[in-house]
Amino acid sequence: MPEVLIVGAGPVGLALAADLRVRGLDVDVVERRPAADGGTRAIGIHSPALAALETSGATDGLLERAVRIRRGEARADGRLLAAIRFDALRARHPYVAALPQAETVGVLSALAPAVRRGITVTAVRQDGAGVRVQAVGPDGDEELRADVVVVASGWAGRDLVYRPGVVRTRGYSDRYVMADVTASGDATALVHLERSGVLESFPLPGGRRRLVAWDGNGTDAIARRRYAAADPADAAARLREAAAERAGVDVEIAAASTFGVRRAVAPALRNGRIVVVGDAGHEVSPIGGQGMNLGLLDALTLAPLLAPWVRRGWEDGLARWERDRLASARHAARLAFANTMLGRRAGATAHAARTAALRTVLRGPGGAVFTRAYAMRFDRAARTE
Ligand SMILES: Cc1cc2nc3c(=O)[nH]c(=O)nc-3n(C[C@H](O)[C@H](O)[C@H](O)COP(=O)(O)OP(=O)(O)OC[C@H]3O[C@@H](n4cnc5c(N)ncnc54)[C@H](O)[C@@H]3O)c2cc1C
Repeated sequence: MPEVLIVGAGPVGLALAADLRVRGLDVDVVERRPAADGGTRAIGIHSPALAALETSGATDGLLERAVRIRRGEARADGRLLAAIRFDALRARHPYVAALPQAETVGVLSALAPAVRRGITVTAVRQDGAGVRVQAVGPDGDEELRADVVVVASGWAGRDLVYRPGVVRTRGYSDRYVMADVTASGDATALVHLERSGVLESFPLPGGRRRLVAWDGNGTDAIARRRYAAADPADAAARLREAAAERAGVDVEIAAASTFGVRRAVAPALRNGRIVVVGDAGHEVSPIGGQGMNLGLLDALTLAPLLAPWVRRGWEDGLARWERDRLASARHAARLAFANTMLGRRAGATAHAARTAALRTVLRGPGGAVFTRAYAMRFDRAARTE
């Protein structure tokens, strides 16, 4: 029986497994997917997460592959609103490390114990001094046991730990279109806040950039039909048009994907010997780029508490960990919501007012606060970086 069983080999489960391995814990990881997910979602890793990943040795591997974004620009109507200086932060890593999520997962997989793939967990129950896990694998049903189970299953596995309705989930009507494209440009992150909606352009390794554009409101009938069809070529054409109109760039895009946004923060992350980390416990709008970072920080601040708990029964710090992680998730969810609002289409007057207000805020002391918030300096875990 392992000391710790981790459900889910996404970035958060793998980061925890890699860290616990270095700390000498006996860890198993189970994952329902037969192979690693090659799709890319998260691209930016912020300083607190990079610092926390140093224990497992992951930071060096990530930085070898990543582009370091030291500067960002907020632009409107073709003009600079404000520069965002990550390199001016007092942080251990004064930049955002940008690389595709699949590469992050690759680096973490190499450091974590081998994942048992093709195992879908169907139930997790406390059982005396341990936890009993029901699962279905290639050979049928199986039962697993561990001293502590950490659920890192993303939102898909939330029902393993929370009763329906316990995690209040709010869906937004905003829809976005996204693609990673070959494009010129330096390592500056660009956010174009235009009347027709936001266009974000973030550098990636290998002369590529991640483009994300606000793509309409998903509640009207036309939008619902359009998203139901979800044709990657159609989406690519809309993204190309948005890039040309909002940022003045002409770029080849063969296929693009669309996504909507939701917000959910669970009321608790721990029930006895079952602990929840990552998207299983909270989901924030990708417009803000903090979801994976939050989860990594859940996992990596939990890691040092696990050995004393499992081996000596010391629960010191767990209540505080849970409070801090929930507070950080609520903060990130509010920030992501604000970003989502700012990125919507606006009428001429509202856009002019929004632009003027942002210019004033970002060029004054508010600019430093914004940069700190964006770089997760207000996450509770940043205090110990
Ligand atoms: C378009 C987009 C862009 C994003 N950009 C950013 C960004 O720039 N920065 C950022 O920080 N975040 C970003 N995010 C959010 C980020 O992708 C997620 O927060 C992150 O993937 C969560 O990691 P996780 O390990 O908690 O969950 P997941 O990545 O969902 O991994 C969970 C794993 O658990 C497995 N699993 C689920 N149920 C079971 C089960 N019952 N049994 C066994 N295994 C199970 C799944 O197969 C999966 O492999 C973005 C998200 C999207 C959609």
